[in-house]
Amino acid sequence: MESHYLHQFESFKIIQIPILKDNYAYILTNEKCTAVIDPGDATPIISKCKELNLWPTHILNTHHHWDHTNGNLGIKEEFGCEVWGPLSEADRIPGLSKGLTEGPIILGGLNGQVLSAPGHTKAHILLYFKLDQILFTGDVLFCGGCGRLFEGSANEMYISLQKIKALPAQTRIFCGHEYSLKNLEFAKSVGIKNLETTEIAWTRQREKNIPTVPSTLELELKINPFLLARSVEEFTQLRLLKDNF
Ligand SMILES: [Zn+2]
Repeated sequence: MESHYLHQFESFKIIQIPILKDNYAYILTNEKCTAVIDPGDATPIISKCKELNLWPTHILNTHHHWDHTNGNLGIKEEFGCEVWGPLSEADRIPGLSKGLTEGPIILGGLNGQVLSAPGHTKAHILLYFKLDQILFTGDVLFCGGCGRLFEGSANEMYISLQKIKALPAQTRIFCGHEYSLKNLEFAKSVGIKNLETTEIAWTRQREKNIPTVPSTLELELKINPFLLARSVEEFTQLRLLKDNF
């Protein structure tokens, strides 16, 4: 496995770093800023920044879970960066210096959008960059699946997923975990059709330890049972089945 994967976009580069068991942390960087997204561990992020000669100006957390925030204080101490995350989680996100709510943010001279997406946790944010059609979904939407309902209700999660569905189909989905193959197995078990091409592609990638992330909304709208659920009731049923899969 490589220690990072590089994605070059018009307005910034994304460096994708596999950390912990199956998490992805991201470094988003352009000439104006370097933001670390969901650093669950400080050490690999600090060494990656040093290796690539990057100086983080921001840490962005999608939600409070330790595997997305445990690196906050170590990175902040090393680089003196700001920590941005959901406002109402100020007491659960280490080092939070600015609380975010739904609405526009400016990051590295770019206009981004914070979308509030509760369900997995009480507060959870998504980060959307319209220009390059990039969405960081944390633990709300995964490739082929969605996050568990730890603190929020099925209704909240369903609404959060509808917000994602409303974005352009070309949107690239950068999520917090590599759960894709297991999610495809579940999708098959609930009768989602036409998964073969994706299954072959993702299996090949995983055999070489290459991330299946990012996905695209266009693909997810075809294969992700949770995005295909037509009602809260259907979603609730699917989520219960997946919890016991
Ligand atoms: Zn989580």
